[in-house]
Formats: sequence, structure tokens, C-alpha cells
Amino acid sequence: MQSQNYNKTEDGVRVRFAPSPTGYLHIGGARTAIYNWLFAKKHNGVFILRIEDTDVERSTTDSIQGIIEGLSWLGIDWDEGPYFQSKYIEEHKNAAMQLVESGHAYKCFCTREELDVKRKASLAAKQSVQYDRTCRRLTSETIAAKEAQGLPYVIRFKVPEQQGGICVNDAVYGPIEKQYQDIEDFVILRSDGSPLYLLSNAVDDIRDGITHVIRGQDGLANTPRQILIYEALGATCPVFAHMPLTLDLKKRKISKRTHGELVSVQFYRDHGFLPWALVNFLVLLGWHTSDDKEIFGREELIEAFSLEGIGRANSIFNYTPGDPKFFTDPKAISINSHFLRTLPIEKIAELVKDEFVKEGIWNPAYNSEKRQWFLSTLDLIRSRFHTLKDFPCLGRAYFSEDFPVDPKALKKRVLNYPNLKELMPRLADRMKQIEPWTLQTTEEVVRDFIQGLEEKPGIIINAVRTAVTGQLAGPGIFDVLVAIGKERVIKRLRRVPELFEETQK
Ligand code: GLU
Repeated sequence: MQSQNYNKTEDGVRVRFAPSPTGYLHIGGARTAIYNWLFAKKHNGVFILRIEDTDVERSTTDSIQGIIEGLSWLGIDWDEGPYFQSKYIEEHKNAAMQLVESGHAYKCFCTREELDVKRKASLAAKQSVQYDRTCRRLTSETIAAKEAQGLPYVIRFKVPEQQGGICVNDAVYGPIEKQYQDIEDFVILRSDGSPLYLLSNAVDDIRDGITHVIRGQDGLANTPRQILIYEALGATCPVFAHMPLTLDLKKRKISKRTHGELVSVQFYRDHGFLPWALVNFLVLLGWHTSDDKEIFGREELIEAFSLEGIGRANSIFNYTPGDPKFFTDPKAISINSHFLRTLPIEKIAELVKDEFVKEGIWNPAYNSEKRQWFLSTLDLIRSRFHTLKDFPCLGRAYFSEDFPVDPKALKKRVLNYPNLKELMPRLADRMKQIEPWTLQTTEEVVRDFIQGLEEKPGIIINAVRTAVTGQLAGPGIFDVLVAIGKERVIKRLRRVPELFEETQK
């Protein structure tokens, strides 16, 4: 079997992401997709999405949908596909038959009971438990007779019996040798006629003209047998590049079972991550540049990416379930914050809109007459934020009259300072006179007001900030006052006696 005529590009690179749709798209799968995508982009190659859905019991349409949505959200676009492995089962079966005809595989009639007996005997004699190749030696007459009787059979691959072995020249792990004698004559077609995954995966890669197989380290166990299949089918082997595992701080493999939803791409989307920030973070789980650069733009990352940069050591996802401080790896948060602070504000506005809608504080005027105000306010408040959620939550007071006051402000010496009850409405009265309402005029009035008081300036400024924004920290206070606007500031300062009463409860 030879690979078909497929779209070839300059460098001829064709790679694929081949998820089994048995759950959501998790960060490990996304990382595999990203590495393949980057490699294709870097080499002007073709990136294929192939859904390996032959395990009908475990594959679900929800999962397929989740994978497609997750990749689309991340901005990982594919050039071909999605192809579905299940559509090619006949081709996989034919490949098995072709291998029988070419003498690379044989029909094995041994029953499960016979195999069990042999296995137990080998175990008792402390010998290898490999299949003893009985059926490899059957004459064509015996085979024909067994078939005529309608006896069921599997198809096994004929592993060479000579000395020597296979050398996997892995682009990440280097040369890995596997002796022929350590490989059993493995089954490629079951007695019900269904192909084994190992075969289907190799046949699909040949048909799709895959030049580089970039996948998780768990695929390494299959590789020597897949190379045998490639060679027997007369196809050129792709380059293999296996990626190290991702572990948590307790050295456990990142998995759905241990880490639940927090390893799904969806989780990051729901927690206000920017898609590119997640891509940037995931790339660094197992790959680095010689100068350990951490922040990349799209083009920059495509340019920098290479298989050589993938490390052999397992990467650490710095998170342990139950950690109350963070909901994910602090590096993921710091990368997200970086992009929140530096992306063009129009882009942030576009990304944040959904969050405002979800929180019920979206105002269509933010797209029309209030556009300038909306953009400059987002720009003002973003420097301390970590996720898109922070805009409508921590930043709620800028966009809504109904905002919470940080409970800490009611306890600490902020809003429970006794004189505030009387001072804040007085400041509000002074502010009423301010015209126009600018950085300079608000600052002059507040400073003048503070001058005549016994209280330290910090007490007044902190109280104003909390009364006006509900938050203990934020941008420069006069910027805040200008952004919130005269009328709303005055109204909120007049509410302080009420807030003070709450502090007394
Ligand atoms: N379907 C396999 C998986 O999800 C992919 C194996 C491969 O990439 O060759 O693990």
C-alpha cells in the first residue's frame, strides 16, 4: 500500500491531531494539537484533524463536538478534515488481507481457551508469554480445511524471526531499539473482522500522507509495531516525535480522573482565559526556546517552534486540586494577565462582551455613543486583572449601580472609620460644585478638602475608593472618579453613612 496523492506543500509536511472522542478536549490533547498545528504552520504544511472514533462504545458525538469547539475557540484551525476513522474500516480490513496475501501476516485459529492454557504453562515455566506462533506454521491445506469448517480466526502480523530489531529514531527521545524477539506476533484483525486500533491508526496515517507523527509519549509503545506495518505495506515511515507527559505537583499524570474539569479547555474558557494565552501556556508545558522566553505572539511562536525544543523530562502543571489560592497554574494566570494588559483594547472589548452579557450588565451603547468611554474604562481597569471575568466582577462598579462592596472594606479601617459618616456627604457637597469634572479639578477639590481635616489623607482616599468602586485597590483615584463620572460619584459618597451602619452590625 502506498500513500495516495494528497495535497503536498513546499516542505511536504503533513501532520495530524487524532483524538479519540471519549471525553472533553483536555489540556494534554490540546497541547498535542497545538504542537502539530505549529509544526504545520512553520513548514507551510497541512494540519489534519482526524477523529479516531472506532471505539464505538466509548466515542460520543458530544465529545466530537467538544473537541471541535475547543480547537476552534483556541484558534487552532485545520486544513483538512475532520476525517472520521470509522469511515475507513473497510480499508483497514483490506490492509490486513493485503498483508496476509503478501506473506506479512497470517490467519490464527487458536481459540481463547488454547491460548489461555499456553499462557499459563509459559507463566509456570517462567518463560515468555508471547504467542508461540503455532498457526504461523500451518500449511495452506490445513488453513483451507479450517476455513472450510468455518472456524473463526484472527489475523496476526508476522514479526521477523531473524536477529535484530526495529530502531525508532524518535525526534524527541532519540534512538530507541526494540528487538524482534521481544515483539509478539500481534493481532491486527479480530475474529469478528474488526481491525485493531494499531493497524487502523497506521493505515490512516499512510492514506493521509502523514510525514510527522507528533503525539503523547504513551504512543511510543505502539511505534515499533506500527513501523513493521508501514514497512510491510511498502509505505515510507513518518518521523515520530513523542512528547513527555504532563504531571501535577504530586507527580501524578494530569488526567480527567484526578483533576476533573480543571484540565478541560472548556474550563479555561469558562474562567475568562484568552484563547491565545492558553495556547501560549500549553506550548510551554514541554517545549522551550534556548533563552526560555515565555510570551509569544502568534507569528513569533510559529517562527520559534521546533521539535528540537521539546524536552524529554515530564513537564509540571503547577497545580494540585484543592489548592485554595489558585484555580490553576500561576504561570497560566500570569500569561493570561500579560495578554489582558497588552492586547489592543478593541480586542479586549470584543472578548469581554460575552462576560458582560452573562453578568447582565451589557449596554448596547458600549458599541455606539458610549464606545469611547467603554474602551478607556476597560483600559484603565485592566492592569490589575487576571481574567476576563474580572471586568464584570471586580470592575462591576464602573458599569452598574448594583455592585458589591468588598466585605474586607467593612471590617478593616476603611469604611468603619467613625467620622466618615459625616465627612463623605460633605465631600459630596463640595464635589457638586466641580465643573468641568476632570482629573485636575477633582484632585484639587479632594486635596483641598483633606487639608482642613485631622484625618490622614489615606483614610479619606481609601474610603472614597471603596465607596465608589466597592474595591480596596484599583487605578489612581482621580482616574477612577473621572471614569465613574460626577453624578455617580456623588451618589455613592452619599451612601457611606448607610455602609457605615453595616460595619457596625
Ligand atoms: N487516538 C489516539 C489518542 O487519542 C491518538 C494516537 C496517535 O496520535 O497516534 O490517544
